[in-house]
Amino acid sequence: MARKRHDDGPAPSEHESSARVVSPEADSPKEKALDVALRPTSFSEFVGQRKVAENLEVYVAAAKKRSGTLDHVLLSGPPGLGKTTLAHLLAHEMGTQARVTSGPALERKGDLAGILTSLGRGDVLFVDEIHRLQPIIEESLYPAMEDFKIEIVTGVGAGASAIAIPIERFTLVGATTRTGQLTSPLLSRFGIVERLDFYTPAELTTIVKRSASILGIRLDEEGALEIGRRARGTPRIANKLLNRVRDFAEVRGDGRVTREAADYGLRRLGVDELGLDEGDRRLLRAIMERFDGGPAGIEALAAALAEDRDTLEYVHEPYLIQQGFLVRTPRGRQATRQAYEHMKIPLPSTGRNGPSGQGSLF
Ligand code: ADP
Repeated sequence: MARKRHDDGPAPSEHESSARVVSPEADSPKEKALDVALRPTSFSEFVGQRKVAENLEVYVAAAKKRSGTLDHVLLSGPPGLGKTTLAHLLAHEMGTQARVTSGPALERKGDLAGILTSLGRGDVLFVDEIHRLQPIIEESLYPAMEDFKIEIVTGVGAGASAIAIPIERFTLVGATTRTGQLTSPLLSRFGIVERLDFYTPAELTTIVKRSASILGIRLDEEGALEIGRRARGTPRIANKLLNRVRDFAEVRGDGRVTREAADYGLRRLGVDELGLDEGDRRLLRAIMERFDGGPAGIEALAAALAEDRDTLEYVHEPYLIQQGFLVRTPRGRQATRQAYEHMKIPLPSTGRNGPSGQGSLF
């Protein structure tokens, strides 16, 4: 059957599309609640990331067999791929509790000491954005991770002395979008280091179907496939899209999320055929139109787009690179032939070696 389009809806413009809807972060309290409601709590419910999940399952089984605790775990990867989910899941599978904090939230040593002393044996302490810990806090984490003790200074001046207080054996689960920014003393204290990758469309389709059944959304196979295919490889985006598309399906149709309804909703949200959002397209367009296809330095691009450098580098670029639309070269970012074709922008005249030496990419 030929694919039917809802051409009655306007194509999303740069202003109309909501970058927030497809952002891989949980932005509002409502979105955070959605995250919690849809979070798998056991390995059997956790879809995809087979290698990571299988490894963790073995480590959990081994720790339980020894009646021991799980080694510290570092999870890296772009936002929305399941790092927080895995931290909770690990606690659940170990039969312990999870405490959640983040690098920027730990402002004083006392904050960390308070949390550490309240942990029970085997509990998981999840530290999101662990690369953003202040050095002084990070240093006080070392003895806690290694020897399960915290050092507290009592007294002042010449009479000051440090005493070590024992804490329960716990499992630190650190999450980061950028392993490269972790110091080596911190990195070396994690016994388990795993990297999460983007999910396949088939895995995201399974996730969307599971979410629809939890939320009571009527979703057919083709609707699920359409959302799975266009969710930027990211479960959080898939769930957000499902929830938004449901609104369009209820208001514009009979409430069933079919392929047509999904396509209509996704286009209204500014998500294109391949799942790129407006932020992704703005980045590609800037490289093509303002930098002749590149190479363009990340700072220059951030300035040209009035966008935060980190957002470009850690939110938009990983997916564009994985999809083959962008390459990072020592001299900067370059758009590929595939990107020009997708954006329907003519390739620059290449001359001898392309206007910016990019001929080799085409
Ligand atoms: P991160 O911490 O990496 O930003 P989260 O763990 O908060 O991402 O995941 C975002 C949401 O995506 C979760 O609440 C959950 O609903 C969903 N999710 C993530 N990973 C999976 C998975 N493997 N299977 C099913 N749902 C998942």
